[in-house]
Amino acid sequence: MESLKVALVFNHVEKSIQVADQLKHLLVTSGNQIDQDNPDIVISIGGDGTLLSAFHLYSHKLDQVRFLGVHTGHLGFYTDWRDYELEELVDTLCNNQEANVSYPLLDIVIQYRDDRADKHFLALNESSIKSIHRTMVGEVFMKEQFFESFRGDGLSVSTPTGSTAYNKSIGGAVLHPSIEAIQLAEIASLNNRVFRTIGSPIVVSKEDWIEIKLPQGSECLITIDQFNIQQEEVASVIYRVAEEKIRFASYRHMDFWHRVREAFIGEHQRRNEI
Ligand code: NAD
Repeated sequence: MESLKVALVFNHVEKSIQVADQLKHLLVTSGNQIDQDNPDIVISIGGDGTLLSAFHLYSHKLDQVRFLGVHTGHLGFYTDWRDYELEELVDTLCNNQEANVSYPLLDIVIQYRDDRADKHFLALNESSIKSIHRTMVGEVFMKEQFFESFRGDGLSVSTPTGSTAYNKSIGGAVLHPSIEAIQLAEIASLNNRVFRTIGSPIVVSKEDWIEIKLPQGSECLITIDQFNIQQEEVASVIYRVAEEKIRFASYRHMDFWHRVREAFIGEHQRRNEI
């Protein structure tokens, strides 16, 4: 049995702090090391937001790191393990290192009008562009071809696993995470006799990319998962399916549609009318 280097990322909820202490003890007594700088496995303890933070802390090491989420609140989309299953978790982690699953990520490049270098980011859920002061104006290009002029509150581009997050709230479709694609969804677009957009979410394959060009002088807010960055003089933002993927360790298979049902429909029973 190979010793693992494990990093723990947890939120400040008391339950999560307790779970982190218990997990640390179990990991070390079973011959593993805690290594926050150079881990093989990153365990997040908390909710989906904690897993997002863990992803961004280690997103420069995706080729060597696998993630695992323990939830101390409601069942999450990225958190498979419960806080009372820690012994089983450590045992599975040590003895069954093959049960991995990987999910697509969103690649984001921000280009500027001035001589600033392009900025590159990865998102696990989504990135959105919103205007700070006025209606957002942008031109959408698909693979260098003009597609539409957009006016409205903003645009969001999400990953398949992010499709159940902000994307769903703005009317985007829920995408199965085995589909290597990204989804463009509108946030309150202006549609009338003068302005016209497609008006529905669009799913783009990994061979395509989306470019959103912004007008000169615009100030925008670009969100990347839980982060907001205020930007001036952005020329365009390019979105595509990333080359990199996030890998999850000791993945417990829960049918995706079952998880979606649990999260969004819950206790509502079948009415047996059919
Ligand atoms: P947060 O951590 O408080 O998360 C907000 C909610 O989104 C939580 O209930 C979380 O469980 C849920 N969530 C996160 N990722 C999810 C996913 N992939 N599928 C289903 N639910 C998911 O908020 P934060 O840290 O500021 O932002 C993190 C994420 O929260 C963002 O990436 C965004 O997708 C989401 N969010 C959604 C809305 C909305 O739906 N209106 C608003 C803000 C943020």
